[in-house]
Amino acid sequence: MAKTGTIGVTTENIFPVIKKFLYSDHEIFLRELVSNAIDATQKLRTLSSFGEFKGDTGDLRVYVSVDKEAGTLTVSDHGIGMTSDDIEKYINQIAFSGAEEFLEKYKNDANAIIGHFGLGFYSAFMVAKKVVINSLSYKEGAEAVRWECDGSPEFTMEPSDKKDRGTEITLYIDDDNKEFLEKNRVEALLKKYCRFLPVPVVFGKQQEWKDGGMVDTDRDNVVNITEPAWTKKPSELTEKDYKDFYHELYPGQDDPLFWIHLNVDYPFNLTGILFFPKIKNNIDVNRNRIQLYCNQVYVTDSVEGVVPEFMMLLQGVIDSPDIPLNVSRSYLQSDTAVKKISGYITKKVSSRLEELFKADRAEFEQKWDDIKIFIEYGMLTDEKFCDAAMKFDLLKDTEGKYFTIEEYKNLISPTQTDREGNVVFLYATDVTAQYNYIKSAVDRGYNVLVMDGQLDSHFVGLLEHKIEKSRIVRVDSDVVDNLIPKEDKKEVDLTDVQREILTSVFQGQLPKVENAQFFVNFVAMKSTDAPIVITQDEYMRRMKEMAAMQPGMNFYAMMPDSYSLRVNTENPIVKKVQEAADAALTDKVKPILASITANNDSIKQKEAEKNSDNGSDVQKEIENLQAANNVSREELSKLGAEYGAGNSTVGQLIDLALLANGMLRGEGLARFIERSTELLNK
Ligand code: ADP
Repeated sequence: MAKTGTIGVTTENIFPVIKKFLYSDHEIFLRELVSNAIDATQKLRTLSSFGEFKGDTGDLRVYVSVDKEAGTLTVSDHGIGMTSDDIEKYINQIAFSGAEEFLEKYKNDANAIIGHFGLGFYSAFMVAKKVVINSLSYKEGAEAVRWECDGSPEFTMEPSDKKDRGTEITLYIDDDNKEFLEKNRVEALLKKYCRFLPVPVVFGKQQEWKDGGMVDTDRDNVVNITEPAWTKKPSELTEKDYKDFYHELYPGQDDPLFWIHLNVDYPFNLTGILFFPKIKNNIDVNRNRIQLYCNQVYVTDSVEGVVPEFMMLLQGVIDSPDIPLNVSRSYLQSDTAVKKISGYITKKVSSRLEELFKADRAEFEQKWDDIKIFIEYGMLTDEKFCDAAMKFDLLKDTEGKYFTIEEYKNLISPTQTDREGNVVFLYATDVTAQYNYIKSAVDRGYNVLVMDGQLDSHFVGLLEHKIEKSRIVRVDSDVVDNLIPKEDKKEVDLTDVQREILTSVFQGQLPKVENAQFFVNFVAMKSTDAPIVITQDEYMRRMKEMAAMQPGMNFYAMMPDSYSLRVNTENPIVKKVQEAADAALTDKVKPILASITANNDSIKQKEAEKNSDNGSDVQKEIENLQAANNVSREELSKLGAEYGAGNSTVGQLIDLALLANGMLRGEGLARFIERSTELLNK
């Protein structure tokens, strides 16, 4: 006898809610129906293995088909099936305690509703105007039943003549969702959500090329791999199996560098394989992400917040029954089970890396340049990972040798400790361009690291913070004796007047390089060291580099690069220039400098007076004195510039320093060549 009834939701509006709000992606209905079919199939298998189902299980595959003319999509299985009582209980009574309250509270968060209720089957109504269930239960003597519902809360249920065990669910696709009648669309969805389901899913027949077109063969088209690599034990898998699985997941990629097979059953269930890919460009990173599965059902590849941030660079699969299906990402992220998973994965990845490092250091070193980006990213973004990784993070020096942080610190401590007791790590970002600086450091017996990775400018800061009493400086950020100042460091031996003269002479000949500014200063290096070295301040440079990688730090990004022109006062050529300039300029510079000094003294005095009697006359006088000083300064600059212009050695020295730094180009380079030829002719 046919039965009619009202589906037991306590809110009359459940269907409109489902249709409009639930699931932003309508396509998920297919995942829900197919996973129900798989569940029913696996339940039957289980019953059979326990002897509770005695008959022949027969063909246990799940079939998906579309009939464009009839406008239907059908999912059928040979699982446990349902009796009318089952349908009453599992399909009709979707009311849960407190449903009404919950719906009211979360009416704007459809995914939370889904997550809470597990309305999987009802998602069919997102795309269908009518749904028919035709089912025969495995239970002895069960009667087949047909249930039909047109999307209103009313349904009909009546006996049917279904002969074979299992459930067939037919969706009459509504006009807005015709796309789900397209074979290609459905096949693509099956590939996305069902690719690794544990029961074969058949979608039509395999096709072949015949007589100028594709035709069906009589072989079933199975869309999934039922035993993907991650469900097996690592001991059952060869290296090739892992690689094949990787290529199945991400076709067209290079082989992965290595992988980590995750397999836990306590405190939660989790399996999976994480691959360290060979990263060629950022597009790969965005496209081929880690996929989350729940019992082999694809959930999402939007794993932000679910896996630790640095693992966004990894690829592979994570499967856990504790990862809730049907929920939005924000829900996933706040889920405590998911949070634990993330922490666990971090631990597992770091311990596996440490194992690899210990087991075969040579191979680890060989892969280091490629995996370094993952590890540095992990260390930068995850405190716990960072602490663990301090043991196996490697530093590479300019000779291509690798050291752990600890090893490296021990290596350089005896030679590279400055007079304050800091161990100074030197690094280069470009071994060719910074050749000269590296050489002078190596000549002093120092070691220089190569830090040319994408994240290294950030990473250097982290290392400095992590390693007690350390400084990390780029090899060209100062002259080598200033990088690691020692007790016996020689000080510059010039009088104020001499300094003033030499500064103005060099300042006057500074090159005009776009987006760069130069400052002259003095340093007493060895007499055999270069006369001038151009260096770039470590702090400013790091700021600029980081600004380039992060939005919102534009202030630094817009500043010109600033360089120091370090004039070596011990170098004999510099000495010669200095002595000659002294002889030519001392008489003129001395009185100007004296007047500046006198004015400065008066200014100081008047500032004090101003504070006590508040007079604006005093302010005026101060301004006059400052103006006079400005004029004097200009005069000094002019004297220096004129002298420098007439002394080809000054320009030549500056140009040589620029040349050593790869900064002499265009007009400057032409002038240098011309001047060099003239000098040779002298
Ligand atoms: P969930 O799968 O989260 O329990 P659903 O709404 O998808 O929620 O399904 C409700 C119940 O209906 C299932 O738990 C199962 O008992 C039953 N069911 C759904 N589809 C099938 C099927 N193909 N075969 C047997 N039982 C099914």
